[in-house]
Amino acid sequence: MASSWSNWSGFVKAVPKLIATPADAGELAELVRSAPDPLRVAGAGHSFTPLVQSDGTIVSLEKIEGLVSHEAAASRARVRAGTRLGALMDILQGIGQGLPNMGDIDRQAIGGALGTATHGSGTTLGAYHTQLEAVQFVDGQGKLREFSRAGDRDMIHATGVALGAFGVLTEVTMNNIPTYRLRRRKWVLPIGDMLRDFETMMAAHRSAEFYYIPYSGYAQFIASDVSAAASTPRPTQDDEEGLATLRKLRTTLRWLPSLRRLLIKGAVKKVPAEDYVQDWLNVYASDRRTKFNEMEYHLPYEEGPKALAEIIALTEKHFPEVYFPIEVRSVAPDEFWLSPFHKRLTCSIAIHHDAANDPLPFMRAAEPIFLKHGGRPHWGKMHSQQAADFKKLYPRWDDAMAVRRDIDPQNRFVSPYMAGLFGIEPGPFGIQQ
Ligand SMILES: Cc1cc2nc3c(=O)[nH]c(=O)nc-3n(C[C@H](O)[C@H](O)[C@H](O)COP(=O)(O)OP(=O)(O)OC[C@H]3O[C@@H](n4cnc5c(N)ncnc54)[C@H](O)[C@@H]3O)c2cc1C
Repeated sequence: MASSWSNWSGFVKAVPKLIATPADAGELAELVRSAPDPLRVAGAGHSFTPLVQSDGTIVSLEKIEGLVSHEAAASRARVRAGTRLGALMDILQGIGQGLPNMGDIDRQAIGGALGTATHGSGTTLGAYHTQLEAVQFVDGQGKLREFSRAGDRDMIHATGVALGAFGVLTEVTMNNIPTYRLRRRKWVLPIGDMLRDFETMMAAHRSAEFYYIPYSGYAQFIASDVSAAASTPRPTQDDEEGLATLRKLRTTLRWLPSLRRLLIKGAVKKVPAEDYVQDWLNVYASDRRTKFNEMEYHLPYEEGPKALAEIIALTEKHFPEVYFPIEVRSVAPDEFWLSPFHKRLTCSIAIHHDAANDPLPFMRAAEPIFLKHGGRPHWGKMHSQQAADFKKLYPRWDDAMAVRRDIDPQNRFVSPYMAGLFGIEPGPFGIQQ
């Protein structure tokens, strides 16, 4: 029976022949062997690219979730891959462990977050996949396979960021840290100061990021550092309220840019500073209720401020409909073959466009700026890159593709979108030559 599927923003839709929710690895393996082609696995559908889209089978691991086991001394936990980050936070806190870092939300499944190299911010903090100690997955022939860092480091580096194309993850073992508290501070400063002091300010905190508020000339800087102090109340979230104000000014003053700039600047300068201490799980994630589409590029660190200045100029000159803040983060280098942070300290810049409007003109105009500065796209966010481009951006690309062929020789996990990403030409009988 056909059903429909769509991603969080509503931009990507699919009408597969089958949507399946296996209860365990055995049922999943049977689906991989027999369900209609191509078989794509969904996490929480929070990617903006058609990674999950399939007219064959979409598999959700929502029933394959929860804690499998843990080792207190090593702060290590093995969890099922369908576990949502929100549930994972509670599980880990309950066993005295914490995630070293997190992105903006806690809605993703851990398998989905790993699949696209989901990240938070911090010059010394890696993305989620850098926590991987072991992976267990069902390969393209329905066989359960397992690799550990100790046993086969290359396979961990090959399959840690895998876009749902190197097997369906069933369980992952993650290296966490003992539970901790964070002091989080937020304040606004002129964007000129932020761009000038970018490297020192980003490196001065365990985790630092900032948002540029379009038309304001100001950035909001967010710094988090480990703290032994007692918890203090987290201020009530006003992100959505702030967005609503920016949207209203965009709509009413769209053709009066000077007045829009004046009012936004005045309002942003008055945004009060924040300073509070909370357990790690109460700090990182926020609610994102206003739907948007997003592009994020991961640039060589030192290119960040230059690219950002160009993106701001483009936005304010040519795209008056844009009102979402531009998000800037840093991510530590790692060794994973398809990680956008592969062997380089990164500055990530993310632009957002209201989901009610067509995002493509803005994204198409911004992408050449990111590419000119050596950017690698976030796998889960809008981009137009294809296999030939990735081959130049990823030194271990060919090695990764060889591992993919070994895991999925019959291209069970290859949809038309994935074929474009991986440069897979179907040969006679649909099999890659
Ligand atoms: C509001 C919002 C905020 C966001 N904030 C951030 C952020 O702060 N930082 C950031 O980096 N990204 C962010 N993202 C992007 C998001 O984290 C990624 O796109 C992530 O991959 C989505 O996870 P998901 O569980 O929804 O996976 P999906 O989007 O459903 O799937 C993502 C990929 O993982 C694969 N996959 C899923 N489960 C498995 C599995 N069990 N085995 C193998 N492959 C699997 C899928 O096939 C697909 O290729 C945000 C997205 C939204 C909508």
